[in-house]
Amino acid sequence: MAEGYSCDEAIEGLKKLLSENGAFEAAAAVKIKQLTADLEAASAKEVNPVERIKTGFAHFKTEKYEKNPGLFEELGKGQTPKFMVFACSDSRVCPSHILDFQPGEAFMVRNIASMVPPYDKTKYSGTGAAIEYAVLHLKVENILVIGHSCCGGIKGLMSIPDDGTTHSDFIEDWVKICATARSKVKTECGDLEFAEQCSKCEKEAVNISLGNLLTYPFVKEAVLKKTLSIKGGYYNFLNATFDLWCLDHGISPSLSV
Ligand SMILES: [Zn+2]
Repeated sequence: MAEGYSCDEAIEGLKKLLSENGAFEAAAAVKIKQLTADLEAASAKEVNPVERIKTGFAHFKTEKYEKNPGLFEELGKGQTPKFMVFACSDSRVCPSHILDFQPGEAFMVRNIASMVPPYDKTKYSGTGAAIEYAVLHLKVENILVIGHSCCGGIKGLMSIPDDGTTHSDFIEDWVKICATARSKVKTECGDLEFAEQCSKCEKEAVNISLGNLLTYPFVKEAVLKKTLSIKGGYYNFLNATFDLWCLDHGISPSLSV
């Protein structure tokens, strides 16, 4: 809807036009009625953000909190998640939904394109703090990095020109964390369609992140002691599959739904 022109105004305008102009062809009138109905439906879908938050929490409280009093009493004492999960900020790929993680099960970091930057105390202290806390204090047993289909961050990475010129304040600099995945795909799959190259890069970027995890000394130590396992995942929401692989890149059969 154009700015300054509300859905209600559009509906009223169309209704007025329809009632005033008796000479309209029947077919045109039917089309306008359909358009009016579509606009009314779109208007009804407009979400009041405060109401959405309130009803969402009320649903959680009745369906989860009040049905699992024991769980939430335990969680009040502390958390002992077995998983640390890296997932994209994309609104379509929430791990709590796609992997059914319940409160207390997964310590999570979400960022653009689900990337793990290399160990760097000044540049990436936010991610470093999360990994340090998960590994040294929570002693998670698994770190899972999940890539996904149609990832806008990966598309952004693949769209950076070869001379490295960037135009955004943060986004391109961030996704360049997986620049070597981009180079690999451009070199090995340069003849594929751009969308297919992006799909390849969505998986290669996960492997770069798995490698970057090992640049954190406490991660490497825990992996060598076999108290920590590092896994890659790829969620394809176009065909509802989830691939899972370990550091050796051996891919398990897809968990097709
Ligand atoms: Zn994404």
